[in-house]
This record gives sequence, C-alpha cells and structure tokens, in this order.
Amino acid sequence: MKITRITVWQLDLPLSEPYWLSGGRLKFERLDSTYLRIDTDAGISGWGEGCPWGNTYLPAHGPGIRAGIETLAPALIGLDPRSVEHVNRVMDVQLPGHAYVKSAMDIACWDILGQSAGLPLWQLLGGSEPAPVAVNSSISTGTPDQMLALIAQAADKGYTVHSAKVGGTDIALDIARIEAISNGLPDGHRVTFDVNRAWQPATAIEVLNSVTARDWVEQPCETLDQCAHVAGRVANPIMLDECMNTMQDHLEAWKRGACEGVKVKPNRLGGLTRARQIRDFGVSVGWQMHIEDVGGSALADTAAIHLAASTPDANRLASWLCHYHLNIDPIPGQGARNVSGSATPPSAPGLGVSPDPDTLGKPHAVYD
Ligand code: MG
Repeated sequence: MKITRITVWQLDLPLSEPYWLSGGRLKFERLDSTYLRIDTDAGISGWGEGCPWGNTYLPAHGPGIRAGIETLAPALIGLDPRSVEHVNRVMDVQLPGHAYVKSAMDIACWDILGQSAGLPLWQLLGGSEPAPVAVNSSISTGTPDQMLALIAQAADKGYTVHSAKVGGTDIALDIARIEAISNGLPDGHRVTFDVNRAWQPATAIEVLNSVTARDWVEQPCETLDQCAHVAGRVANPIMLDECMNTMQDHLEAWKRGACEGVKVKPNRLGGLTRARQIRDFGVSVGWQMHIEDVGGSALADTAAIHLAASTPDANRLASWLCHYHLNIDPIPGQGARNVSGSATPPSAPGLGVSPDPDTLGKPHAVYD
C-alpha cells in the first residue's frame, strides 16, 4: 500500500466562550485547526486533525502545521502508511523537532492501519474493550464563586472530574480559589488545579504549603527543573503538562521524582505513535495520566480517546474533550462524545470518524 495523495484543509474553530488561562494573562477566542486526509493506492483513506491551543499556549501555531506539511509531503508520497514507526522516522529526518506538525499525519496513518487490519484504534493501541473514559470539565480562571458556579454547571452535564485553572499574580486569591473549590466540590467529585506554568517556584511552595487541599496540582511552573524543585517541597501530587515534549523529558521527570502523573497529548508529542510510547512508559513507572489532545474538534478528541480507552484503569485519570468548547462541529454525530460524564471510542475499524469534505470547504493544499 502506498500514499498517493495528501489533502489539507484549514478551519477556524470559534470558542463558544472566551477562555482565560494563567490568572487572565492569556485569552483565547478561536482555534486554527488543520484537517488532513491521506489517500492510498488501496482505496483506503485516513483522517487526522492537528490543532494547537491558539498561538500563545505552546511553541506551536496553526499555520505552522500547514507549512510543515508542505515540507514533509513530498517525502511521504509513496510510503506505506501502515508502517507508522517508519513514517515517523522519515518525518523526523525531513523536519527534526516540530512535533505538533506531525500529529495529524501520524493519526491519519493509524486510521489507515486500523481500516486495513479491520480493527479499531483502541484495540491496535493495546486495549481489550472500548472502555468508557471519564471526561473532565475545564474551568476557566475566575473568582472562587464564578469557578464553583462553572463546576456546578459541569456537574449538571455529568462531569465528576474537573480541571480548575488557577495561577494569578494575586497569591491570596489563588489560595482562596483552591480552598473554596476543594471544599465546595460536589460529593464524590475530584479536581486538579492547573496552574499552566504561572507560578514562580517560591510562589508555588508558598501557596501549596498554605492550603489544606491535597488535590492534584498541574504544571505549577514553567520548566521541568522548577517543577521538580517544587515537587520535593510540597505534599500535593504533581501532574506535568506543557514542559513535557520528548521521551527524554519523561525519563528526566521520572529520574528526578518531579511528578506522579503526566498529560499525554498527541499534538504536543507528535501524534499517536509518540503518545503511545510515552503512555507505555507512564504505565511502566506507575504514573497516572490524563490522555487528551491539546485542542481541536471531535476528530482530534476521538483519536486521544482511543489511546485513553486502551490504557489500564489504574493509570488513567480522565480526559478533556475540547469540542465542547467550540460552537461549530465539523463531524456531527460522529466520534467520542460525553455521555453522562464518560466518552467511548468508536468500534468501527480505524479512527471511526470520517468528515464530509464538503463541510470543510475548499482544500488549503493537495499534494500528490
Ligand atoms: Mg494543563
């Protein structure tokens, strides 16, 4: 089987509400998403989506994906897309780094591998059943009362796990947010306080040694060094996210005891191939993981839910679904959706999601 054509679309995904991170330092109103279809000489086509969370969240941006695909495409035409590791090695030779560029291409290759094998991705990735995955809400930074109101709204939709965004310049307000939310959660609900790198190490140590809450705290500071320093001086379990880009970062975090869990995100890591490697490492060292994508519609969410569903229960916390923050849906009725607080991956062969190209509009580029 050979790749004969790669077609690329761009779609703006407006957020239904403006989204604030880092105590209001970063504001997001729309996402720039890239959709990609790989066609083959066997008549099988595969789909992928790559969608950074705006331009300011990570060193990744929407137009960069399309520029990178333009560079990669000539080297990929003619390859067998089922050889996912080989395709990744070719991409790494043609364009070292730039993991976020490669995710959509890698997901589309997995979709083709699954269809040609007649197996859903959750099974190819090692799962025994299409396990329902707990989904978590994402609570934008606000006053303690505003954030508790958002948690109550999320609870009405079936969410029992929440990711509350904290990390402002006002230390007292962060302490108030954490204590109010930890104490005000509905019975049986869990919360992670996601700082998104906003604290200096001294701030993190001061806040976390002031609060009584012992919930998970995510990415308190910018770098792995800083987070490791904090992890040794606080009682809360630490989850790492934005500073984790390569397998080497994960090895380093483990050796230093910098965390008890990580976020595994295909777009940040370079696709399902790399995310699976890191998921397997996380299982082997006993981490607990949130497996979800950086952003995107239900297509990107579904790829991540396949990986989450194939991960042992003991190592899986919950997954966030970006598409509930969008006011457009390019694959209505398809893919992994929140049903009473959990999402189940499709069991059709491959990714199990196939957008109608007409809904994506005119292609941005076609390579053949
Ligand atoms: Mg995070």
